[in-house]
Amino acid sequence: MVIVMSSKATEADVQVVTEHVEALGLKAHPIFGVERIVIGVIGDERLIQKDQLSLIPHVETVIPILKPYKLASRELKPEDSIIDVAGVKIGGKEMVVIAGPCSVENEEQLLQTARSVKNAGAKLLRGGAYKPRTSPYVFQGLGEEGLKLLQKAKAETGLGIVTEVMETADVELVAEYADLLQVGARNMQNTRLLRSLGKTKKPVLLKRNFSATLNEFLMSAEYILSGGNEQVILCERGIRTFVEYTRNTLDLNVVPAVKQLSHLPIIVDPSHGTGRHDFVIPLSRAAIAAGADGLIIEVHPNPAVAFSDGEQSLTLEAFQELMKEVGIIALAMGRNN
Ligand code: PEP
Ligand code: MN
Repeated sequence: MVIVMSSKATEADVQVVTEHVEALGLKAHPIFGVERIVIGVIGDERLIQKDQLSLIPHVETVIPILKPYKLASRELKPEDSIIDVAGVKIGGKEMVVIAGPCSVENEEQLLQTARSVKNAGAKLLRGGAYKPRTSPYVFQGLGEEGLKLLQKAKAETGLGIVTEVMETADVELVAEYADLLQVGARNMQNTRLLRSLGKTKKPVLLKRNFSATLNEFLMSAEYILSGGNEQVILCERGIRTFVEYTRNTLDLNVVPAVKQLSHLPIIVDPSHGTGRHDFVIPLSRAAIAAGADGLIIEVHPNPAVAFSDGEQSLTLEAFQELMKEVGIIALAMGRNN
């Protein structure tokens, strides 16, 4: 961090800054120029609250050098992280597709979907048992009964399970069934939940909130990593913009941005990102072309009667088509699938 003092600053002002910095265990190195004094700070500047420093008289500008996240950054770990989810490696050469219904509804719906997506080439099964719905009057998920159905689908197909955990109190229970614990967009900054996931041994799929900056997204990952759980996979699922013809705007810019700044894998959810089944295949192709490590796709045997997100769910046949088209892009990108 570099602190630039105003032209009126005296040595006494520099002393105040030095004491502030040293009280936090860092070192301050003032450089007395002809017109200005600048102070170089040596040590982990993340311990300093920039806003507090700016309140000290004659501090003009505070320029951080390090990223506010540490464990999530490529500065700390230059090589890509590869996360093992029930034997499926995410973040390596392989493109991984996770597929399944938005909500687990019943045994027939889940098993039919699981068998079909497995045959089409999906590597993991998704399905919500606890659903964060906008309306309190609609289906909220089957809860533990849904988790048991997911377990049954796993036993039959061998597909590892991806399912959402909404509350700290549910982490232990959901972790008994899930191979990958999903944090939904609405909970991206639920820091209690993130902290408790930092203590689990299961990998976490962290979905970006619809209004989160890239920095906030990576800081949320940092909560889980700093709790001791290194297995974090990021997921772009669309953000809010002025656009009204899609449910969200899928921010594919974030894929190369994350790849530059972080070693963590990133997958893309074009189902929530578009809200339109007819846009899911083209945006899946685009996501893989942009460098995403995989996709998470909503699939339903009969989207017209789905309890949630039917309008963005692919039929079993459309999902087969998706796998074909995306496979071509993955090959072109030098990935296995
Ligand atoms: C979901 O995956 O069904 C879901 C609720 O996603 P999001 O949290 O991204 O809205
Ligand atoms: Mn959904």
